[in-house]
Amino acid sequence: MDPAKRASVGVRSETQLEEQVKDWLRYGEDLGLAPYYRDRSPQHAIAEAAASSADGQSVATSGAISSAAPAAIPAGVPSTMAAAAPGRASGAPINVAQPSAPQKSPAATLLSSAAPSLFEAIERIDGDTLPRIREDIGDCARCKLHKGRTKIVFGTGNPNADLMFVGEGPGRDEDLSGEPFVGRAGKLLTDMIKAMGLQREDVYIANVVKCRPPENRLPEKDEITTCSPFLMRQIDTIKPKVICTLGSCSAQTLLQTTQGISKFRGEWFDFRGAKLMPTYHPAYLLRNPGAKPEVWKDLQKVMAVLGLQPKKR
Ligand code: URA
Repeated sequence: MDPAKRASVGVRSETQLEEQVKDWLRYGEDLGLAPYYRDRSPQHAIAEAAASSADGQSVATSGAISSAAPAAIPAGVPSTMAAAAPGRASGAPINVAQPSAPQKSPAATLLSSAAPSLFEAIERIDGDTLPRIREDIGDCARCKLHKGRTKIVFGTGNPNADLMFVGEGPGRDEDLSGEPFVGRAGKLLTDMIKAMGLQREDVYIANVVKCRPPENRLPEKDEITTCSPFLMRQIDTIKPKVICTLGSCSAQTLLQTTQGISKFRGEWFDFRGAKLMPTYHPAYLLRNPGAKPEVWKDLQKVMAVLGLQPKKR
């Protein structure tokens, strides 16, 4: 083989290997192994600081909602959700106010934080609007992610949505289009939304960070800390009844925990006046379709709270 060709094959297989390792790391994270293999988790330091606080309060509180929604997958649910095929996975300044004491609950003790959430303590801005938040973001260069981005992915959907989905951060397709969840994982999310009897335009979709992390790596702590106050303002402005976090990053960020998502997905939490339901990321489902029924159970709980009927075929 000529040396140039060999070199290009070498580069490709190195990239493939890197992708494979990333897949395994994501998989480990979804299984809750992240704290054991990665002490650089973005929330690690935050959660540690919270855990060392002396007041003994918990960050997240389980809602009073019972998980009475039926777990069976109805006939009308698209096979993309019902399939259980085997397979492996894959600024504006924000003031901090004195938070009220959160309730204790079994789900709260499940999470490792012991102080009120930083996000729960962020003061709401009276009269805030989505256009104002977008204007405040501007041509953002607050963190290093701006260097590699094409477009800021602010978020899209119904500004008065009852249901808001929060993902991790834009991927390549989103970076190019400026819209969240438009790639393969986005198509699956759209199917999930339709299975719930809704259209994409009915809900609001945003991410923890608004610029694409290079090589689709996880957003880092400083990036999350810089960007997520804008997400909090979006949440406060939209005032959804339910926030559904997709994957580890958004759940761990909003609930400020290092616990693996598999430990607490499907549980209700209270978050800034909304009910928060953590579930798996659609990209994880693409790699691990066997987890779709679990996600469908989580979505059924959301539907029960919002009085939604599954889509009829
Ligand atoms: N994954 C995410 O978490 N967000 C997107 O917008 C796209 C893919």
